Order: sequence, then structure tokens, then C-alpha cells
Amino acid sequence: MIELKTEPELEVMRRAGRIVAGLLEHLAGAVRAGLKTRQLDEASAAYLRQAGATPAFLGYRGFPATVCVSVNEEVVHGIPGNRILREGDLVSLDAGAILDGWYADAAVTVAVGAVSKDARRLMDATRQALEDGIRQAVIGNRLSDISHAVQQRVEAQGFGIVRDFVGHGIGRALHEDPPIPNFGVPHAGPRLKAGMVLAIEPMVTLGSHEVQLQADGWTAITKDRSLAAHFEHTVAVTDHGPEVLTARCE
Ligand code: MG
Repeated sequence: MIELKTEPELEVMRRAGRIVAGLLEHLAGAVRAGLKTRQLDEASAAYLRQAGATPAFLGYRGFPATVCVSVNEEVVHGIPGNRILREGDLVSLDAGAILDGWYADAAVTVAVGAVSKDARRLMDATRQALEDGIRQAVIGNRLSDISHAVQQRVEAQGFGIVRDFVGHGIGRALHEDPPIPNFGVPHAGPRLKAGMVLAIEPMVTLGSHEVQLQADGWTAITKDRSLAAHFEHTVAVTDHGPEVLTARCE
């Protein structure tokens, strides 16, 4: 069942969303060559504490950190640790917060210094695919209109759209119904209604869409070791169109 959020509930989710947006902006600004990825986790934990929010990922099914840090061929769910970031790396940061029992979830991919032209194109395509998906999050559309728009944008540029991980509903839990694949035919699945809140999150590769799990049981990498990018927003379907709850502060 897809939960519809009431206006007061959405108001709390907006506050949670703003915290996640601020957190990601803070972390993206901290990314530089020479930084250990665990320092991003430390910065994330401190930021959330100061904001009065609870990290959504720490302890989730045993995940050991407050932020996922996935570098280069790592697609999602990278565990921050002793890895040192280097000039030219692509770093995907995925974070969630809980405020008064309500969740928000978002991700960005950032470049460490100068990156290859391909890496830049990959990041741009992933961000655009997310925007295309968000544009479809309107009342009366069906869920797969989002999926289809994302896939179209990614594949038109010759990139791979990951299938093994998908977006999701979000609210009182990190992962609610419905699952939101980043591929599929249009005009299928449930109709979108006001009060649905969706975490839309294309994961895109420079090569094949196939991924595999690392020995740590969490980190997903591209099977062909091609670069990956990941952008995500928590989006509410409203009477006034899609509302991005995890947008940066205006
Ligand atoms: Mg998510």
C-alpha cells in the first residue's frame, strides 16, 4: 500500500529534507584530494547531531556509517573508511535523516578536482535523468512514467541504467512502497496522487548496467568496472506539481 502523507506530515518531511540537502552540500564542499572517506562520515554525524536529526542509514540492516561514500566504479552503498580520495575521483554521497520519526533521503555525485570529460558527461546525464523523472511526478501520471523518463534520458546518451537497485516510497520508514525502477515502459503501475512521497534515484554507468556486490556485503560496483554516478531526491507529489523536499535552500 502506498501511504499518502497529510500536509502536517509533509511539513515535517520538508524539514527533514532541508537537513539532508544542507548535509550533502556540506559534505560536497568538504570533498578534496587527500581526504579519507571516513572523515566524510565523521562530518556527516556531527552535522546531523547539530541539526537535531538522527542518521537514517547508521544501523540500517547493520550499515556501519551515517553516509554512503561510493568512489568511481562503486555505484552505491560504499562504506566510508581509510580510502584516500584522489584528484580525478568521482564520489557519490548518499545520506538520509530522521526528524520526529520522518525520513528524507538524497544523493549527489561530486568530482574530486578535474575529472575526465566522460565522467563529467556521466554526472550531467544522471542529474538530468533525475530531473526528467521528477518532472513526471505529477498527479494523474502512472509510476512508470517516472521510470521511463529516467531510462530514456540515460540510454539516449549511451550510458547504462542500473536495474538491481531502485528508488522507493519514503515517509515513516526509509523504504516504503512503491519500488521505483529506473527503467520500464510508460503508463504502467499505480496512478500518482497528492501526498505520495517518492525517493527517485537514477544510478548510471559509463558502461554496462550490471553490478556486483563486494565482499563487505554492501558496496555495489559495476561489473565492468566502469564509472558510476548517482543522484537522488525525495519528492512529494502535490496539487501544485512535484515538490523536491531535499532541494538546496533557496
Ligand atoms: Mg534512496
